[in-house]
Amino acid sequence: MARTFFGSFTQQEAIPAEAVAAVLDVLRTGRLHRYNLAEGEVGEVAALEAEYRDWQGSAYCLAVTSGGQALQIAMRAAGVTPGTVVLTNGFTLAPVPGAIVAVGGQPLLVEIDENLRLDLDDLTARIDESGARFLLLSHMRGHLCDMDRLMDICDRAGVTVIEDCAHTMGARWNGKRSGNFGKAACFSTQTYKHMNSGEGGFLTTDDPDLAARATILSGSYMLYGRHGAGPDAAAFARARSEMPNCSARMDAVRAALLRPQLAGLDRNIDRWNARYRIVERALQGDNQIATIDRPAAETFVGSSIQFRLPGFSSEQCLALLRTAADLGVELKWFGRDEAAGFTSSHRNWHYIPRQSLPRTDRILATLFDMRLPLTFSEADCETVGSLIRQSVREVS
Ligand SMILES: *Cc1c(COP(=O)(O)O)cnc(C)c1O
Repeated sequence: MARTFFGSFTQQEAIPAEAVAAVLDVLRTGRLHRYNLAEGEVGEVAALEAEYRDWQGSAYCLAVTSGGQALQIAMRAAGVTPGTVVLTNGFTLAPVPGAIVAVGGQPLLVEIDENLRLDLDDLTARIDESGARFLLLSHMRGHLCDMDRLMDICDRAGVTVIEDCAHTMGARWNGKRSGNFGKAACFSTQTYKHMNSGEGGFLTTDDPDLAARATILSGSYMLYGRHGAGPDAAAFARARSEMPNCSARMDAVRAALLRPQLAGLDRNIDRWNARYRIVERALQGDNQIATIDRPAAETFVGSSIQFRLPGFSSEQCLALLRTAADLGVELKWFGRDEAAGFTSSHRNWHYIPRQSLPRTDRILATLFDMRLPLTFSEADCETVGSLIRQSVREVS
C-alpha cells in the first residue's frame, strides 16, 4: 500500500514572530540569567511567572528548567524525603516514576480504568494498605479522573496531591483548572507540550510555604525577592536556610519565547480540540475501535488522541502499527514488551520494584496513541482518521 499521508507527527508550529523578536531583544542585552537585571528591570522570567499565575488562577508560580524538575521540586517542597512512598498512575510517562526515584521516593503504582484515568477504588485500597501520604497524580494524555471524588478520597486520608499537568495545561474539571485541585501542580513547556520553549516548566501552588521552599530549591540563592509571582518575605524567612539549591532556574530566553505563546494558548486549545473531534468522529465510525470517553465535566486539550482495539491480539496490534505507518500515519502502541521512542510501560521501569497491575496491563495491551500537532490542517485530520479506519479494516 502506497503512502498517502505526508504530514509529520512531530512537527510543531514555528515560534511566533513576536516571540522571536522578544528573544532577539534579550540576546542583545546579554542578560540571560533570570537574576541578571538592569536597575528597575522586572525581567522576562518574573513577568512570565506573573502572567502564568494569572492565567492559571493560582496564588504563586515558579518557572523552572523542565516539567520533570518541577515534579522533583514540588515533591521535595511538599515533604517527600528518601524512603517516602509516593502513589502514582500505573500508566504515565517515564519522567513521573523518574522524578519520584530522583528524590529518593518509592513509587507505588495505582491501576487505571478503560478511559485511562486513575482507578479511584484501587487508589482507596492502596492508600489503606500502604498508609501512603503522597499522590503524584499524572493526568496522562489529558484524561482527568473525577477530581471531586479524588480530592475527597485524598483529603479524608490525609494524602497530599501533586498534579502532573504536562498534558492538561488549559484543561478543566467542572470549570476549575487542572492544577488547582492539589497542593501543587507541575507543567512542562518542552517542545511536544502545549507551549514550546524547547525545555521548561512551571510549578504553581496556593501555599506560600511550599512556594518559598520550591523557589529556594530551584536555585534562587537569596535573590528570591526578584520573583514576580512568589510569596511574601515571611514565607522566605522560614524557607531560606531549610532547602538545598538544586539549580533548575528558567532563563530569560525561554521566558521571552513563552510570553507571546501564553497569549495565544486559549486559541490553540480550540484549534487542538477541533482536530481531536474530527479524528474521534472518524474512529467512532468503526465499532472495533473503542475511543476514550470524555466526561461532560471535563474540558480537555486534544493535543493527542488515544484509542483501544479490545479485540486485537498482539500480532494484530503490531500489524496495525506497520499498516498505518506504510500509509504515513505514526501510531504508538503501549502493549510492546520493550520501550520504544517516548513510549514505555511500567514493566520497562526496572529501577522501581516490579508491581502487579493486571487491569492496567490488559488496557495497555491494545492501547494506541497518536499526536495531533497543530501543523495538521483539519483536512489532514479527516485523512488521518480515515487512514486509521482503513488500517484497522485491513488488519482485522
Ligand atoms: C513531558 C512529561 C513530563 C516531563 O516534562 P519535561 O519537561 O519533559 O521534563 C512529565 N509528565 C508527563 C506525563 C509528561 O508527558
